[in-house]
Amino acid sequence: MSAPAPRPGIMDVRPYVGGESALEGVSRVIKLSSNEGALGPSPKAMEALAALAPEIHRYPDGGATELRAAIAARFGFAADRIVCGAGSDELLGLLCRAYAGPGDEVLQSEHGFLMYAIAAKVSGATPVKAAEVDLTASVDNLLAAVTPRTKIVYLANPNNPTGTYLPKDEVARLRAGLPDHVLLVIDAAYSEFVSAEDYSCGKELVEAGENTVVCRTFSKIYALGGLRLGWAYCPDSIADVLNRVRGPFNVSSSALIAGLAAFNDTEHYARAKSHNEAWRSWLADRLTELGLTVVPSVANFLLVHFPHEAGRDAAAADAYLRRNGIIVRAMASYGLPDSLRITIGNAEETQAVAETLATFLAGEA
Ligand code: PMP
Repeated sequence: MSAPAPRPGIMDVRPYVGGESALEGVSRVIKLSSNEGALGPSPKAMEALAALAPEIHRYPDGGATELRAAIAARFGFAADRIVCGAGSDELLGLLCRAYAGPGDEVLQSEHGFLMYAIAAKVSGATPVKAAEVDLTASVDNLLAAVTPRTKIVYLANPNNPTGTYLPKDEVARLRAGLPDHVLLVIDAAYSEFVSAEDYSCGKELVEAGENTVVCRTFSKIYALGGLRLGWAYCPDSIADVLNRVRGPFNVSSSALIAGLAAFNDTEHYARAKSHNEAWRSWLADRLTELGLTVVPSVANFLLVHFPHEAGRDAAAADAYLRRNGIIVRAMASYGLPDSLRITIGNAEETQAVAETLATFLAGEA
């Protein structure tokens, strides 16, 4: 008997492997590998979640009405232009399935988020990468890579795993240089962490035309990664398409209720943002003092280059951190074998990773 064959291209997809959360033989692991919220979720989100328990036999509100209304009110958006998803991953994938297929190309910058190429392949489209300049997306290179077959450009802004960003004017230049029929998907998963004045998540581009979408998530600053909740701000025509292709109850009641409580807890949000700013700069300074090269980051993680020197390189550092119960993200699968990506954790976790790397580099390993 032979197994049913999936569509062509599906077997070229390498499954996405998330950051591990356990290490053999280590009882208390410090996990700094998935850019999760350092302070954990809002206590109000946890309370809302606990209160939901007796109601979980009910289907969720498939229209995510209350959450969309809250987001719309805060940002001055029309609620009809917001579509919620089971994590922004779902929305990023649905956009690809709806707008790109066999024979089409899906463009991203060199070290963009791994899910874009997976989404392209699952849709039967071809992922294409444009070279970066200084580990930052290059508008010129992206525009030069556009062909008549390009259907979607994914831009993570800020970018994961580099932590770099494109200023608002550059993103506008990218949009202006793309043919109108090309969909620009701005993945602003880390936007809440950015304080730079020349940054925008891209909402003005959504409002200026029919061909730009911004995706956001509750997994990062709101620290609700386990519940899977994201949203897209879209032109009307794209919201209509997403509502046709998404599942009727794609977002769980737990995600909706905790997401709304987290969104309304502006104090916890402010604490998470200032914590990240303070500890990101503390860790960057500390690692720089240790002689490592830290890519300037506006997100909740740092990309750190290690010397190309046996015993002191990124792979050895990763192994040493693991022996000491600390999991960070090795970057070889992103084409950055000399680098590790380290999430900003809570104070204790962030100090622990710096101290452990100091010991490693001092050769006392
Ligand atoms: N976009 C980027 C750039 C990310 O780094 C991530 C998570 N690692 C996501 C999207 C997906 O987030 P979510 O949990 O909302 O699916």
